[in-house]
Amino acid sequence: MSAKKAIPYKIYLEESELPKTWYNVRADMKNKPAPLLNPGTLQPMTAEDLAPVFCEELIRQELDNDTREYPIPQAIQDFYKMYRPSPLVRAYCLEEKLQTPAKIYYKFEGNNTSGSHKLNSAIAQAYYAKQQGLKGVTTETGAGQWGTALSMACSYFDLDCKVYMVKVSYEQKPFRREVMRTYGASVVPSPSDTTQVGRRILEQFPGTTGSLGCAISEAVEVAVSNPGYRYVLGSVLNQVLLHQSVIGVEAKTAMDKYGIKPDMIIGCAGGGSNLGGLIAPFMGEKLRGEADYQFIAVEPASCPSLTRGKFAYDFCDTGMVCPMAKMYTLGSGFIPAPNHAGGLRYHGMSSILSQLYHDGYMEARAVEQTKVFEAAEQFARVEGILPAPESSHAIRVAIDEALKCKETGEAKTILFGLTGTGYFDMVAYEKYHDGLMSDYIPTDADLEKGFAGIPKIDL
Ligand SMILES: *Cc1c(COP(=O)(O)O)cnc(C)c1O
Repeated sequence: MSAKKAIPYKIYLEESELPKTWYNVRADMKNKPAPLLNPGTLQPMTAEDLAPVFCEELIRQELDNDTREYPIPQAIQDFYKMYRPSPLVRAYCLEEKLQTPAKIYYKFEGNNTSGSHKLNSAIAQAYYAKQQGLKGVTTETGAGQWGTALSMACSYFDLDCKVYMVKVSYEQKPFRREVMRTYGASVVPSPSDTTQVGRRILEQFPGTTGSLGCAISEAVEVAVSNPGYRYVLGSVLNQVLLHQSVIGVEAKTAMDKYGIKPDMIIGCAGGGSNLGGLIAPFMGEKLRGEADYQFIAVEPASCPSLTRGKFAYDFCDTGMVCPMAKMYTLGSGFIPAPNHAGGLRYHGMSSILSQLYHDGYMEARAVEQTKVFEAAEQFARVEGILPAPESSHAIRVAIDEALKCKETGEAKTILFGLTGTGYFDMVAYEKYHDGLMSDYIPTDADLEKGFAGIPKIDL
């Protein structure tokens, strides 16, 4: 045991060891992610096409498949220092509990007030909006984590922040809403009558409780119709994966310091930003043929975009106002069954991860939510952190893999992303404890309805 404990419970980095650059994994991909398309002309979106919607510098990052390293602006490095490095923890207690020979590590991103990794990109996006002299930004939020992170970032840079929050979450998560308002954001339940697209959706689907795709359409409309505003997005986009690479670069620096090489890296996947960020530098080594790792994306069985979706160009939002992206998708009209991991309910997946998955560099697994909460509780009881339902998808598969090691006697090294804390998700935990949680898995017929809405385009 004592030799084993040569590795500390928590591996920290000195301030001087913190990342000074983000890593752009696209630079090392042979098959680049497919470009965003203009839904009208089916031509790749140019910087000019995107300018009314996104901030200039973020567009440059979005379209740049070649620059390997992006210097992190000093103001962002300084902000990161308030809550980074995020701890890289050796889960000795969990290993002990499972009686596994596996060595388990997790990178914990819940150590800031927003409670998740989303602040890493929120602060970058707010910074570039401020640099451009904008008045404010608009966005959507599902469960509320992204809206919370963006509210914090905007208040830091003194920007106005308008958040369209999926109505069902707005009503069920009043505390999230209040955190956003504490940081000065205005929060509108979506669909709303404040936008054309919102009114259209309300007319078509009276009484709808909203969806992420619908809130995106509203936020984009408000951004393009108000001078001095742009739209920002918390996941899926290339730029977001770029910012989130700070997670992976820190993790790799810390592991290299102790000569630890993970055999497998596991993360939950909603739009793909935390997973894309965590695996980035490791994937870079794999793509360059320098090292090999097993990468596993974990998604809910109720919203299985990678494991059961189609790899196709699709709309990113319900109102079809955004550019189209080539990705694994369930169709922009797919509304997942109620599931308590709000951050994993998006119909599509990052184009970068979709391409890597398509090319066989990454695996994906779908897990049922009662199994996820079982893992969440097991983890909370020994590691002391109350995990977010989203993060617990990664815990589930990490535990499954550790138990496999117990059978085979292999001492694999497992790294997983623990994206956030679950204090705002206690209603979900309550359902689980009361035995009221169900495991709805869509049938093939259910999925066909979503697939029918994927545009049929030949390229
Ligand atoms: C948003 C969120 C996710 C999923 O988003 P990705 O872009 O796939 O990373 C996962 N965990 C938490 C805690 C989140 O807030």
